[in-house]
Amino acid sequence: MKKINDALTEEELIVLRDKGTERPFTGKFNAFFEHGIYKCKNCNQPLFKSDTKFDAGCGWPSFFEAANEDAITYREDNSILGRPRTEILCSNCDAHLGHVFEDGPVDKTGLRYCVNSISMDFESENN
Ligand SMILES: [Zn+2]
Repeated sequence: MKKINDALTEEELIVLRDKGTERPFTGKFNAFFEHGIYKCKNCNQPLFKSDTKFDAGCGWPSFFEAANEDAITYREDNSILGRPRTEILCSNCDAHLGHVFEDGPVDKTGLRYCVNSISMDFESENN
């Protein structure tokens, strides 16, 4: 990860840089459904739009689509033996965001972008 935001806390760095995972149901955006855009905590790149967020019941903010096709980098993650996953990173700064799974809403994309709240900032579009 290219560190851009000098104000990142140790807790944020553990997720963004060291690929940690926040505890489920603890993140500030898990049960948060305001209208706006979610941006990278490190570099401010737009990542997800609120109208693609859904309640997956998994304990982390979930989206069925990225803000645009260039926002996210996808990387094979074999860190858990026997359970290959696809890691998602900010395409601009390489910050770790979470993972994408293929159990999202079938009437949309079928994808579930499972993202750590701590990896993102929210910008409201109401003001
Ligand atoms: Zn970024």
